[in-house]
Amino acid sequence: MSNNSSKQALDILKEVGAITTDSHIVLTTGRHTDAYLNLDMLMPHTEESSEMGRLFAEKYRNVDIDIVAGPAVGGIILSQWVAYHLSKLKGKEILSVFAEKDLNKNQVIERGFDKFIKGKKVLVVEDFTTTGGSVKSAAQSVQAAGGNIVEICVIVNREPDRVNSQTIGMPFTSLGVLKIDSWAEEECPLCAKNIPINTELGHGKEFLAKKNKTS
Ligand SMILES: [Zn+2]
Repeated sequence: MSNNSSKQALDILKEVGAITTDSHIVLTTGRHTDAYLNLDMLMPHTEESSEMGRLFAEKYRNVDIDIVAGPAVGGIILSQWVAYHLSKLKGKEILSVFAEKDLNKNQVIERGFDKFIKGKKVLVVEDFTTTGGSVKSAAQSVQAAGGNIVEICVIVNREPDRVNSQTIGMPFTSLGVLKIDSWAEEECPLCAKNIPINTELGHGKEFLAKKNKTS
């Protein structure tokens, strides 16, 4: 069942163009890869966002949860859908709140949301995490408001070896895992095969401009 929901989550992301595969992309780091993840492509599609929220709700339908929280910005919409579907599945109102960045870029619970969180069992959700930093900060803000973290769950984890419950220091999981290989330019098998660089995604355009200048 968890494998199934993982596949469904990745299928939704492919459907809305949040996952691109079989391409040749230059990353911010300068490394090359054949796949690209852009979770921003999901939220404009309400039907698919709702469906993603339903997958989270299915995962936690038998877990004792009072309230869902996410870090602004991506986590707000997702948190709403997860709470909406959890409410339906559980037959009781599950609330949704969000954490937002303060001037020091720490996630904090504002707007009086702490009243809803205090003493409650909280599920923290986020679309995507690179280092786990923002979800961890959001979870800490929930704890500071007196909430008990049940688990942190993101849609997709790209680096389960580097981002996990141990490194976050709290129960952490994801709907799906998508490991994306990347290579230094000299070792890139796609360059070796002369596969054209994608100029729409990542930094391919800049890469090619620079390459043409130096060659
Ligand atoms: Zn390459």
